[in-house]
Amino acid sequence: MAIHVWDYRHEYESERDDILDAVDSVFRSGRLILGKSVRGFEAEFASYHGARHCVGVDNGTNAVKLGLQALGVRPGDEVVTVSNTAAPTVLAIDAVGATPVFVDIDPATYLMDTGQVRDAVTGRTACLLPVHLYGQMVDLAPLRRVADSHGLRLLEDCAQAHGARRLGRIAGTVGDAGAYSFYPTKVLGAYGDAGAVVTSHDETDRHLRRLRYYGMEDRYYVVRTPGHNARLDEVHAEILRRKLVRLDDYIAARRAVARRYAEGLAGTGLVLPEVAAGNEHVYYIYVVRHPERDGILKALREYGFEFNISYAWPVHTMTGFAHLGYGTGDLPATEAAAAEIFSLPMYPSLPRGLQEKVITALREILARG
Ligand SMILES: *Cc1c(COP(=O)(O)O)cnc(C)c1O
Repeated sequence: MAIHVWDYRHEYESERDDILDAVDSVFRSGRLILGKSVRGFEAEFASYHGARHCVGVDNGTNAVKLGLQALGVRPGDEVVTVSNTAAPTVLAIDAVGATPVFVDIDPATYLMDTGQVRDAVTGRTACLLPVHLYGQMVDLAPLRRVADSHGLRLLEDCAQAHGARRLGRIAGTVGDAGAYSFYPTKVLGAYGDAGAVVTSHDETDRHLRRLRYYGMEDRYYVVRTPGHNARLDEVHAEILRRKLVRLDDYIAARRAVARRYAEGLAGTGLVLPEVAAGNEHVYYIYVVRHPERDGILKALREYGFEFNISYAWPVHTMTGFAHLGYGTGDLPATEAAAAEIFSLPMYPSLPRGLQEKVITALREILARG
């Protein structure tokens, strides 16, 4: 049996009564769409952030897409982001008709190299879209300065960083808005697709509510286009409410897993995750690096381990984005990392014995040289 980086079933077994009760309570409520569970989750998730508003949407890709539209990004605009991200970050820019402009990453943290952003800004730039990758935050202070001095909006892709903080500020609250995914693997995961946008701007909140609801404010009258059907379901909202009260526990458990890796893998030659100064990492993905990555993954397969690479193909090298005009060699730090990184199993309910097996296997493989 192959052993994978993520498995929700341990968590489900321990939370089953609560999850099934959440589903049952929605089914019995008489309201399946935009009811009290969505409203409740929005209020509670906003409050978790100390933000004024949260708008639930159907997935993280649409959280980014609607976030961009609500901040006024229009077809033909440019959005500065990174290629070292999940493809949906860039697909969302594409979906609003805007053009992604990539900057490279800091090779130590794999996060956006914020020093390159000012030079990437042109007369068509409308928005900066940093990604809090793997669970730690990009330093937003320099981005805020560039945004303010050039009249740009700042949207945070928080899909991997629920509850992450930098210098005490929680992800999603430094920019004009923060886009979240609750895809099941995420730090706060639903039992299906879900997403949300957090903002403290009243007008952005109103705009997001129209965008997710056909461009309507009331039935059945379209006030403004574009409009989408991008609502968060009651069932997922209610499950997320139950899980939100445990979010800090999930994060603590992830940090404990990370500590055990750091102890068990010290001195092996693997490059372990580096936490940037001031950051409180939530370890959505535990990314390690080694020049012999492909050989190590092959040897791990012989132990029955099938691990992920997040991400093996930088977005700018994918055929689907060839029209952007980038090529291999354009983002050297991004491309070098993609060739050497891989992810170790990381989730709050990761069994201790399984983690020990991973550490032992890696120690054996790396000792062989
Ligand atoms: C998961 C993810 C998304 C997309 O979220 P979905 O809910 O899968 O649509 C966007 N950006 C990043 C960085 C992600 O990790």
